[in-house]
Amino acid sequence: METEKLKLDVKRSIQSQRERLIQLSVDIHDNPESGFKEEKAATWLTSYLEDGGFHVERGVAGLPTAFRAIYGQESPRIALLAEYDALPKIGHGCGHNIIGVSAVGAGVASKHIIDRLGGSVVVMGTPGEEVLGGKIDMVKAGAFKEVDVAMIVHPDTRNMPTEEALAASTLEVEFFGRPAHAAGQPHKGINALDAMVLAFTAINSLRQHIRGDARIHGIITDGGEAPNIVPAHSAATFLVRALDDDYLAELKDRVLNCFRGASVASGARLEYRWKNRPYAPMKNNMTLAGLFRQNLESLGRNVEDFDPRSGLGSTDMGNVSQVVPSIHPTIAIAPHEVLLHTPEFAAATVSEAGHSGLLDAAKAMAMTAVDILQPGTIDKIRQEFRGG
Ligand SMILES: [Zn+2]
Ligand SMILES: [Zn+2]
Repeated sequence: METEKLKLDVKRSIQSQRERLIQLSVDIHDNPESGFKEEKAATWLTSYLEDGGFHVERGVAGLPTAFRAIYGQESPRIALLAEYDALPKIGHGCGHNIIGVSAVGAGVASKHIIDRLGGSVVVMGTPGEEVLGGKIDMVKAGAFKEVDVAMIVHPDTRNMPTEEALAASTLEVEFFGRPAHAAGQPHKGINALDAMVLAFTAINSLRQHIRGDARIHGIITDGGEAPNIVPAHSAATFLVRALDDDYLAELKDRVLNCFRGASVASGARLEYRWKNRPYAPMKNNMTLAGLFRQNLESLGRNVEDFDPRSGLGSTDMGNVSQVVPSIHPTIAIAPHEVLLHTPEFAAATVSEAGHSGLLDAAKAMAMTAVDILQPGTIDKIRQEFRGG
């Protein structure tokens, strides 16, 4: 069958790129750059794609380290998403070196099938995933308008065809009270720190009665000036997360009520701002995930269903998945006990298991591209996305 033959071809292509891909992953690992400063990584990845015959455009969506590398002109257009930002101090503890390099390897391997089957492939360089949410800017700037499907593979301790991600909103709050001598004239003061502590207590009570997949957590960023002055100002930053936007909206209101109540109780005036860059929940395209799963299994990997024990976070891929049929599967590169965002996980990304995860991720994505270009597949993917 031609499909099988083409899948064999893409596997051979990844195999022939093996040494260069591993070197690229090691180089990015050894030169960690934080979000929106990934100059070396972006240069290396785009050079690799240019050498591979891709047309490269840099500085997409006004982000200097974002890029778009295209091969072919026709539709459907398959996007392979690269990330390459590191964590401060921990380096590549989230394994984005593997994400970036597996995307370019799969891109180069897909050229052959584009020549045979039509369509086009675009490797999207999406910087600043950690905290900054580069993909949110790229979605807003329309960078995904001509894209029909999007794939990204994240290293993990399990092979999973889908991953859930929480919708998340950031809340900044401040209380304004009145200063006074804490011993001399405490009755003249209004304690803004007490207001914040009351709000924390109220949120801790609320947390008992929310869904297990929601999260509320925060820190106090200003708690007063000196112990002998009644704090006139306090400030905190909170994150509120939920599996869907409706529940997030409900929770946001209940969280605000905790602050409102504390304001009434303490007499301190409340001011708050929701930051305008919310992370969207992940909308997994199960048709696409099913194809990816079969391909990953055919490489000899044991693929498990999404397991919440592997952790729930938020990712800017959620925002992409709301506008384009998407998957965000994971590839195992370390034992279950190794935690993401640690130096141990960073080391695993350049271990033998890390290299084999990188190559298998690239193979499974390119093999899934073969499936996407078979007659009728893209229609099924689109139909599911539109809810049909
Ligand atoms: Zn991370
Ligand atoms: Zn990550």
